[in-house]
Amino acid sequence: MQLKYSNDEKVFNIHTDEIPYLSVAMLDGLGVPNLYSTRLLSYDEESGRGSEGLRTALMKWEDKEEAAPHIAGMRDKLARQIGSSIEHECVTDQKHTNYVHVAKKEDIGLTWQEPRPLHLQYVDGIVSDIPDILLTAFGGDCPPVYLADPGRNAVGIVHAGWKGTLARIPAVAISQMVVHFGSDPKNIYAAIGPGVCRDCYEMGDEVYQAFASEWSRADADALLSKYPARDEKGCEIMGGKYHLDLFAANKLTLLRAGVQESHIAVSNLCTMCNSDIFYSYRAGRLENENAAMIVNRSKVR
Ligand SMILES: [Zn+2]
Repeated sequence: MQLKYSNDEKVFNIHTDEIPYLSVAMLDGLGVPNLYSTRLLSYDEESGRGSEGLRTALMKWEDKEEAAPHIAGMRDKLARQIGSSIEHECVTDQKHTNYVHVAKKEDIGLTWQEPRPLHLQYVDGIVSDIPDILLTAFGGDCPPVYLADPGRNAVGIVHAGWKGTLARIPAVAISQMVVHFGSDPKNIYAAIGPGVCRDCYEMGDEVYQAFASEWSRADADALLSKYPARDEKGCEIMGGKYHLDLFAANKLTLLRAGVQESHIAVSNLCTMCNSDIFYSYRAGRLENENAAMIVNRSKVR
């Protein structure tokens, strides 16, 4: 797998199993099974179908009854590589909210029920202390944030696009872990997974304004900077466009929520710079999405 990293840190382990995937080295060290999928999953030999598998296929395929087992089968293969299966799975709904659901046993396996139960709609984050539960989020440039509190046997996952990031979804998830599992933020480990990098992430002025008003002007200045944009002829356009650093913004939210800096891993992989390996919305390569999975199991227990 030829990946372009933004620094030399060893954030991810690469696995070239039957279906290649990445995992967060820090979480691996805690014995918490986790993964981030790649495009290399996208071809299913049994059905002969390519570019379909994890999530969006359900929307594209007209025959949902035909699609559901196929999609489930692909994700199940992936989950089994980290010792889990979709029989234990609860997935996010991905509506760019900051709503975090505390998963119960009865939420497991409702993945593709249509319509999705009301309490699982608008969910962009899930936390749970159910042993062995598998939590899955998806992203086409929006980074996932993985959370683990091994001492409390609890995990979480959130989908953090710019709207969820603005609405501090990792802090909402942590507050749910504090309230429901008795977690202390200083014992929580957090990993910001692959997503679009600052250089690739052009934003309108309204995004700067939103961070300036909902966070602070100092934060907006630190997280968004204006680079000169170029026209079709390659000439610089005056003023340029804002670029948002989603990784830095989510790290700041985690730190302010009380997570220790030594417990935070930050992605050095951009989905758009690596769009031959990952699905990327901005790169126009969103036939599907990448899956981020975490299992509630650790060697601390
Ligand atoms: Zn990039």
